Amino acid sequence: MNLQSSKKGTAAVWGGELESFFKGATTPPIVNSVTYAYHDLDEWHEVSLGKKEGYIYSRNTNPTVQVLEEKIRVLEGGEAATSFATGMGAISNTLFALLRPGKRVVSLKDTYGGTSRIFLDFLPGFQVQVTLCDTTDHEQLEAEIAKGCDLLYLETPTNPTLKVVDIKRLAAAAHKVGAVVVVDNTFATPINQNPLKLGADLVLHSATKFLCGHSDAMGGVLTGRKDLVEAVFRFREINGASLAPDPAYLIARGMKTLELRIERQNTSALKIAQFLKAHPKVMDVYYPGLPTHKGHEIARQQMSGFGGMMSFALNGNYDQVKKFLTSLKLVHLAASLGSVSTLAGPPRTTSHVELTEEQRRQLGIPESLIRYSVGIENVEDLIGDLTQALNSL
Ligand SMILES: *Cc1c(COP(=O)(O)O)cnc(C)c1O
Repeated sequence: MNLQSSKKGTAAVWGGELESFFKGATTPPIVNSVTYAYHDLDEWHEVSLGKKEGYIYSRNTNPTVQVLEEKIRVLEGGEAATSFATGMGAISNTLFALLRPGKRVVSLKDTYGGTSRIFLDFLPGFQVQVTLCDTTDHEQLEAEIAKGCDLLYLETPTNPTLKVVDIKRLAAAAHKVGAVVVVDNTFATPINQNPLKLGADLVLHSATKFLCGHSDAMGGVLTGRKDLVEAVFRFREINGASLAPDPAYLIARGMKTLELRIERQNTSALKIAQFLKAHPKVMDVYYPGLPTHKGHEIARQQMSGFGGMMSFALNGNYDQVKKFLTSLKLVHLAASLGSVSTLAGPPRTTSHVELTEEQRRQLGIPESLIRYSVGIENVEDLIGDLTQALNSL
């Protein structure tokens, strides 16, 4: 059976699980074995040379971890997949494996905080040239790409103001100059957006977020063009940022309900965004599903759902943000996102904690902004909770 042609809900459940497991187990065993024994030295040698399928050492490959890798591969439509200890492991291994001194990266000002740190603090030290463009300025991005570029790195929708960039348009520009296109698809998830189908060469995720979905395991995944995934895998094997079997099991288990969760979160988030948009104490709502959102048209073309992430600015100052957030009951005031439970926080304590107030202003992040990751709770309860917290202001 070929899961590549099946629907996502099916691929999420059966990906990596079509073969039977140890003693007929119907869930993937957590293989905590570091090493794998051989009775036959010739076979061992063949496997270590990669001429025969098998396992040697769990820093390289592991049967439980491979279940997860296969799930993301079929969900994104990649040729190959690999995984990492965290999402930042996926991002840093990809960038350091594919770039060399003298190469040039073009990316966005609004990438995830940790990714920006790689671009601004680490890659320049290795003589990699980094150009970060205004996130939604497609003309500037195309002009910078046309000057010559080896790697185009995109993220859409972005953190925390949910800006949207046109993957198809920018991937076409990048391919004209022979650049590799990498997309961080964490916010959208493979249910709502498939960058490889829009022209990207590689797509990566912080599996810690929606893929795991329960805030109880960390991981990162990468899928796409086989030659590129293999190049990154060879680096990760040696650099050692491998995913362990226990978190791989939890993430793979979480992924079985990915479609159910995302459909729920898409619907709830849209209702909440509409509710907030109409509320007098809310100044602005940033959600790509709203027709008033600047990226709505592009989002409609490249996404099949608008996701569970949004942000909104209160009519008021940071004191009001504090009062509002601490009045909420059905929420964890915490970093991270994409969990079954609703999470919220201001960018100044979550995604953009390293930045100064001035830097946040330059990125268009108001001090009264709240990032809100919609969980799978009943949406009427969430709206009720938001209502009472807004009334307390
Ligand atoms: C959280 C996140 C990351 C980093 O993932 P970790 O698992 O925390 O290392 C990267 N990109 C985006 C968009 C994220 O939200």
